[in-house]
Amino acid sequence: MKTIPILMYHQVDVPPPKGSAMRGLVVAPRTFFFHMACLWLLGYRGLSMGGLEPYLRGERQGRVFGITFDDGYANNLHRALPVLQRFGFSSTCYVVAGLVGQRNSWDAQHGIAQVPLMDAAQLQQWVNAGQEVGSHTMTHARLPDLATDQQQQEIAQSKQALEALVRQTSGVQHFCYPYGLYDASSLHAVQTTGYTTATTTARGRVHLNAQAHLLELPRVLMSRTTTWVHLLLKCFTSYEERGIGRTPSLAPHTDLEDVKTPKGEPRR
Ligand SMILES: [Zn+2]
Repeated sequence: MKTIPILMYHQVDVPPPKGSAMRGLVVAPRTFFFHMACLWLLGYRGLSMGGLEPYLRGERQGRVFGITFDDGYANNLHRALPVLQRFGFSSTCYVVAGLVGQRNSWDAQHGIAQVPLMDAAQLQQWVNAGQEVGSHTMTHARLPDLATDQQQQEIAQSKQALEALVRQTSGVQHFCYPYGLYDASSLHAVQTTGYTTATTTARGRVHLNAQAHLLELPRVLMSRTTTWVHLLLKCFTSYEERGIGRTPSLAPHTDLEDVKTPKGEPRR
C-alpha cells in the first residue's frame, strides 16, 4: 500500500531544562538535522503541504514526505530553516493568525514556557525562503467548544488575515486543527472556506488507497526523543499506527501525553 508520512514538528530549539512542561515538543536543531539527513540519504524529498498535495491526490508519484510545524514559533525560522535550505526541502508552518509576533499565550495556563512566535516580517522571510504559511485559527481555538458561527470565524478570518499579512503566491490553502480537535461543523467550515488540505494530530501515515480524506490528514509525531531509528519506523512501517482508528476529537491529548512520557522510546 502506498503511504506518505507527514511529519509534525512544533519547536526546533535547544530543549528547556528537565521537568519543563511539554519539553518533548522541542526538538534540538541537531536532531532535526539528523531527521532530514536520514530521509535525504534515502532519496526522499521533504515538501510543504502545497508541494505534497498532488502526491496526496495521486496525481504525482515519488519519494516524498510532508514537513509541518505547528503554532508558528520564531525558532522555526532561526533553527529549522537553515537545515531545510541545506537539503532543498520545503515545509508548512501553521500560524495562529491573531497572535502573530506574540507568544504561545494559549499554553500559559499549563505552565508551558512562553516563547516568541514569528512576526509579519519573519513570516514573509519564511515564505521568501521557499517555505509555506498555513492557518492554525485566529486564537489556537478548541474548535468543537465553539458555536458554529464562531468556528466559521476562526477558520475563515484566519485565512483572510494571513493572506493580508503575508504575500504568498497561492494564498493560504492549508489548515491545521489546534489540539487536533474538530467536529462536523469545523470540517464544513474548512471545506467552504476553500482550504485544500487540513491536518490533525491522529497518528499515522496517509494511506493513499484508503480514500485519504484531505481535510482529515493524520501525521507522524516528531519529538525530542525521536531517534533516526524511530524516524524510520514511523515513516516506513506501521509503528506509528498502533493507535489508528482513534478519533482525534475524542482523544485530543493522547499525543501530547506520549511526548511527556514517550512509550517505547528510550530517554536520552
Ligand atoms: Zn497548535
